Amino acid sequence: MALAMALAAPVAAAPTISLQQGDIHRGHLPAGAHDLTLDGKPVVTAADGSYLIGVGRDAGPAARLGWTRADGSSDGADITISPRQWRIQSLPTLPPRPVPNAEFEARRPAELQQIAAARATIADGPGWRGGFVRPTTGAITGVFGSQRILAGTPSAPHAGLDFGAATGTPVVAPAAGVVRLASGPFTLEGNLVMLDHGMGLVSAFLHLSRIDVHAGDIVKQGQRLGAVGGTGRATGPHLHWGTTWTDVRIDPARLLALQPMEPAR
Ligand SMILES: [Zn+2]
Repeated sequence: MALAMALAAPVAAAPTISLQQGDIHRGHLPAGAHDLTLDGKPVVTAADGSYLIGVGRDAGPAARLGWTRADGSSDGADITISPRQWRIQSLPTLPPRPVPNAEFEARRPAELQQIAAARATIADGPGWRGGFVRPTTGAITGVFGSQRILAGTPSAPHAGLDFGAATGTPVVAPAAGVVRLASGPFTLEGNLVMLDHGMGLVSAFLHLSRIDVHAGDIVKQGQRLGAVGGTGRATGPHLHWGTTWTDVRIDPARLLALQPMEPAR
């Protein structure tokens, strides 16, 4: 009887994936499955069928992963994205802001092009599959997703994690990766290092006082990248650590909460 019931049971549906806004999710496709999509858009997967996706600050409440089974049929999994309470600060008046000047306007397009190029490669590597460590010491002085409303006008949400640390404090790789950009000073970011952890996951380290790596370097977790500073548009020395999956900004604090992935079956 038990055997008959087991034989009659339908193929188990993939469980729902529960995420929060700004989260990342790593998983493995079923054996032989391919052509992963997120809400219909193609997602690059590793040779062993492992993958990484991210959801933005304002994503939700639901998304859908899809793939093609080995037998050619369609399959997928639902994603629920729970909302988070972002730190919102309303200021009645506009603080003085630097007036965009001719030099900024002239330099900015080329800077943005370099930053976009540093995020363009999707390659495999060990970094994205592991755990992540803090890139520097010091208290967290700014969180992902926080936003100021200045005289009724929302400013861009804070897209990273800020660490208050003195100039010269070492900045290390939170996970292994390939250095895609090590250059500066950029007008806003100052001295900037961008580290590719693989599968489209890229860390950016802003406002550095010094850079100790070069583009193309392969670094291990914990390896020194540079030092905390206040270069670019910064009110004082601190590290801003921003993370993106393709062009989606994700919360670095969620990376710090990850355990290393199980190997693919
Ligand atoms: Zn910041």
